[in-house]
Amino acid sequence: MRYLVVGAGPAGTAAVVAIRRRDPGGRIVVVAPEAGPPYSRAMLPALVAGRVTLEELAFRPADEFERWGVSRRVARAVRLDRDRRELALSDGTLLPYDRLLLAPGGVPSRPAIPGLGLPGVFVLHEREDAVGILGGLAGADRAVVLGGGLIGLQVAEALGERGLAVDVVEQAPRLLPRLLDRRAAAMVQAAAEQRGVACHLGVSVARALAGEDGRLAAVRLGDGRELTTRMLVVAVGLRPDLSLAAPAGLAAARGILVDTAMHTSAPGVYAAGDVAECADGFCTPLWPRAAEGGRVAGSNMAGGAERRQGITWPQTAWHLFGVSGVALGESAGAAPQDTIYELACGPAYRRLVLREGRLVGALLVGEIRTAGVLAGLMRRGGTHRSALRQLGYAEVAPGG
Ligand SMILES: Cc1cc2nc3c(=O)[nH]c(=O)nc-3n(C[C@H](O)[C@H](O)[C@H](O)COP(=O)(O)OP(=O)(O)OC[C@H]3O[C@@H](n4cnc5c(N)ncnc54)[C@H](O)[C@@H]3O)c2cc1C
Repeated sequence: MRYLVVGAGPAGTAAVVAIRRRDPGGRIVVVAPEAGPPYSRAMLPALVAGRVTLEELAFRPADEFERWGVSRRVARAVRLDRDRRELALSDGTLLPYDRLLLAPGGVPSRPAIPGLGLPGVFVLHEREDAVGILGGLAGADRAVVLGGGLIGLQVAEALGERGLAVDVVEQAPRLLPRLLDRRAAAMVQAAAEQRGVACHLGVSVARALAGEDGRLAAVRLGDGRELTTRMLVVAVGLRPDLSLAAPAGLAAARGILVDTAMHTSAPGVYAAGDVAECADGFCTPLWPRAAEGGRVAGSNMAGGAERRQGITWPQTAWHLFGVSGVALGESAGAAPQDTIYELACGPAYRRLVLREGRLVGALLVGEIRTAGVLAGLMRRGGTHRSALRQLGYAEVAPGG
């Protein structure tokens, strides 16, 4: 059996291990453009902050692939021919496969804002992006971060730790709009501002402006204000990389559509990680989901009959500007028919969303010790009103 894996992130590496565990003799080839051991994108903000070194980004040993008897091709996959079961690489090679995993992750979204091509404008997605940002620190005493989501705020915190004055520009009326409600977002904002990070909410960047040297010199906001800066980091989200799947005609919506076995619409072709999309919401762009999807795909590629199991709602934990938090399920919003329970105590705030008596979302800020219990309640279903009252939660107005 010839196995081909595109991508050496958590999805690709978990797949390799799962394949090898079931098939000790099969030929496995991993294709990825970066040389060296697999590295963690989630650690890139820590690299920018100076908390870890380039070497410490590795999440697997340098001899990982050799250990599993895997051949490595340092190249990009550029074209998939699903009828011939062949993958073309950027170095001109054609690789045949019996089973293929597509795990190329996503590509950072770049909004159509004039000036984003200027030197001094960055994203943070790859190791090279972090190295570029570190290079830009020399000439910068301030930075603007476009996007107040998790990655944007991690970048803002990291640049703040490097001594830069940082402005975060977020078009929603609050930080982390997909995870947090107003009150929780205000807590994170207060912590950010205490550390010298200014937050501009409800506004976006209209244009990036060049100085006489042709490099970024300022950004103009939608409300006409100008922020002087030599560094702009754009962190407005990620879209699944469909550059291989779409021309090959694989069924895709936002991402490549997969079933619970992580199989795509094409025979012998699987997908996992940030590139995949599934009907039940499991495929959110998070590290543990990528690894689990890759593991299930790899096992099935090698003849297994696994279905991914476990929770499908998003689970996110963070520590930003000294504030820890956990968001489970529908943590930020609430439908009009939902009931909201809150518990606030000193610097801690907890908010639960119940729908027809069932817990469908939880938001814990500053005090996260009950996250496991709440996740358990969400998993089990059932109604929990009296248990919540005993825990000290009080019902607030329906819908929010
Ligand atoms: C700055 C940052 C911070 C993050 N923080 C967190 C966090 O705190 N918690 C969390 O859960 N998640 C976090 N994430 C998200 C997490 O890193 C991703 O969900 C995860 O890496 C996705 O894994 P993946 O295997 O699908 O893709 P990736 O990790 O993106 O790996 C994709 C692989 O495919 C390769 N590749 C791409 N195109 C091709 C091609 N054409 N040919 C061959 N190879 C190709 C890439 O080079 C790479 O090896 C963060 C991400 C970033 C960028």
